Formats: sequence, structure tokens, C-alpha cells
Amino acid sequence: MVDRVDGLIIGGGFFGCMIALKLKALGFRDVVIAEREGRLMSRASYVNQARVHNGYHYPRSFPTARRSRENFARFCEEFGYAVDRGLNKYYAIAVGSKVTPDQFQRFCERIGALCRPAWAAVGNRFDAARIQDVFRVEELSFNAVALANGVAADLRRSGVEVRTDTIARLDSLSGEAIAVSLGQSTVSASYVFNATYASLDDVGASIRAGLKRELVEIALIEPPAGLDGMGVTVMDGPFFSVMPFPAEGCYSLSHVRYTPHAYWSGPDAPEMGHGRSHAAHMIRDASLYMPALARARYLRSIYDIKTVLARNEDDDGRPLLYEIHEANERFISVLGAKIDNVYDVLQLLEATAWKL
Ligand SMILES: Cc1cc2nc3c(=O)[nH]c(=O)nc-3n(C[C@H](O)[C@H](O)[C@H](O)COP(=O)(O)OP(=O)(O)OC[C@H]3O[C@@H](n4cnc5c(N)ncnc54)[C@H](O)[C@@H]3O)c2cc1C
Repeated sequence: MVDRVDGLIIGGGFFGCMIALKLKALGFRDVVIAEREGRLMSRASYVNQARVHNGYHYPRSFPTARRSRENFARFCEEFGYAVDRGLNKYYAIAVGSKVTPDQFQRFCERIGALCRPAWAAVGNRFDAARIQDVFRVEELSFNAVALANGVAADLRRSGVEVRTDTIARLDSLSGEAIAVSLGQSTVSASYVFNATYASLDDVGASIRAGLKRELVEIALIEPPAGLDGMGVTVMDGPFFSVMPFPAEGCYSLSHVRYTPHAYWSGPDAPEMGHGRSHAAHMIRDASLYMPALARARYLRSIYDIKTVLARNEDDDGRPLLYEIHEANERFISVLGAKIDNVYDVLQLLEATAWKL
């Protein structure tokens, strides 16, 4: 049996779900999400550092920083139920950082983001030989489980059909109805959105943009006394970031040098598991900068495949990719490189004249 729908979304991460909701709001009648896993938003939309970006992370990519600033308040308001507001967040500038304390402060001024000198207040938590300066900033974290539950409830209310445990594969890309096989059945859709993040070039259609992939590990830890309620990102180079991970009531630790286990560019992951955890290296290196971290209790690690645009390799920018297929404008691939980029895709959907 072939189902005929207006919109099929491949991938039930945060981006796929939000696209589905927007299509419904724009008048698409039948909208289906096909998700390979047993639950929505269980891959990169869960395995991440839960940071609600506010620009600070991107001193080398002004467009990404500015867009994060613009989206921050909107995300915090719209998804306020999932945003943890009790975070004291600090950016520390390491010795050897690609950005100096002065440049960081001026960059924050330029994007209009709060940045207060904080060495006097919290400098004693850092090794003064390794950290040049510390700033208090306004950055928050989100609870990925609360977000997934809230989005799932919105999907139910708006009548989007969700098919979990369903692997989608493109059958044919020609014509005004695109055929996609969903396991035993086939769906014919007026528009197909490929929101598969790490599998973007692996659903049966090509992608023009170059993708870079990393197998990544985030260590979940219980913070030592004195760090509770505090989040720290050390800039800008092979350093670390420690943030609350509200979904599991603990903290996450990522490290520019130790979080990636492997890199590749094609769709096929190298034949491997993730091997031994790098958590001990992360904790050891981070505690050189913040000695209290040596007392962090390691809980477990979460792993996934991070996917970024190859063209942002040098500036660390995280723009949205919204790629209309060259052979059929009804097949659109979306790579949402960070959670708040969702507003960029929603804006593009609103601006399009859909032919249903
Ligand atoms: C280590 C790491 C840290 C990060 N930290 C942050 C952060 O702190 N803040 C931030 O804003 N962003 C962060 N990001 C980025 C953020 O996680 C992603 O931008 C976002 O989650 C992408 O959402 P998505 O819906 O595109 O992808 P996903 O959530 O991965 O959803 C894609 C879905 O597609 C499904 N799928 C794949 N192939 C198929 C198929 N053939 N058929 C059906 N389903 C399929 C997958 O199962 C998956 O559920 C981080 C990412 C990583 C990896």
C-alpha cells in the first residue's frame, strides 16, 4: 500500500520535529515523521552539551555569534519549560588561547552580550598560571528530556503522524510525488525533508555540501563541591567545557582534544566501536585548569556522530544548511548545526511558496 502525504520528514530529531510542526501550521494536511530509533530526539538532540548558545562560543565566526544572540531570548521563551535558568556561567581565557581576554570582551560588546570581569569573584577556582582571565556571561542549559516531551506533545496536538523504529530510504526522486520506502510500506510525498543529521548523505539522495564527521564522547560527571551551579567554558583552543546536563541531573564534560575519537567525511562510519573512553584524559587535563575537577566523579559517557560543514573547519561557524536538491526542488536536506538554528529553518519554511 502506498500512502500519499503532503510532507514526509526523515529523522525525528529536534529539527525534523520542528519542521513537521511548522509544515502543519503552514497548511500541509498529512505530515509524517519517520524515525529510525525507538524514540524521538534520542540521537544528537540528546547527545550534546545542552548549551543554549548566546554567541560566546563563536568569537571566530561573527555571523554564527550574532545569530545565536538573536535566537537566545526566543528559544528561552518558547521552550522555557525545558531551560534551566539557575546557571552561573563563566568563560575563562586560557594562556595560549586564539582569542585574548581583551578581544573576547570586545567581541561580546560587538554582539551585545553580557560579559563581566569575574576574576575577583571566582579566580581562585582556576590555576592562575594557565588562565589569563575569567568572565561572567549569560548562557544557559536545556533539559533534553523535557524538550523532547514538550515537542512530542505538540506533535500529538497538531496531528503529525510519528513512525518510530522506521528506517526511511528514498525510492525515486523524480516527479511531483517523491517515493520513500519506510520498511514494509512506501510513502509518496509532495515534499520530503531529510533531517537526518549524521546520515544526511545516506538516505539515497546526494548532498552538494561537504560534511565532516566526528565520533564524539561526552563524559557525564558528578561535579565536585564548589562547582555545583557553575558552568565553565575555557577558550579558545584545545581546552574543555563543563556544563550542567539537566536531563540526567548531572554535568557534562567535553574536551576539544579528547571528545573526538575519530574523523571522516563520507557517509560510511569507519568499522569500529568507540573503543576506550577518553573520560579520564578529559578530567585530568581539565583539572590542570580547574584543580577541583580532579574530584569530579565519572558516571558514564554518551557517544554520537557530530556532523559539521567542511567549509566551517577553520572558523568554527555553525550555520544552518538548507539544501534544495538539484534534481527535484521537493527534496530538501537540513543540517541544523546547533539547536537554536531551528529559527533559521522555520523562517525559510515560512518564506516558501509551497505547491501542494
Ligand atoms: C557532541 C555534540 C555537542 C553538541 N553541543 C551542542 C550544544 O551544546 N548546543 C547546541 O545548540 N547544539 C549542540 N550540538 C548540535 C546539536 O546537537 C545538533 O545541531 C542537533 O541536535 C541536530 O538535531 P537534528 O534533529 O538535526 O539531529 P538528530 O537529533 O541526530 O536527529 C536526526 C535523526 O535522524 C534519524 N535518522 C537517521 N537516518 C535515518 C533514516 N534513514 N530513517 C529514519 N530516521 C533516520 C536519527 O535516528 C536521528 O534521530 C552538539 C552536537 C554534538 C554531536
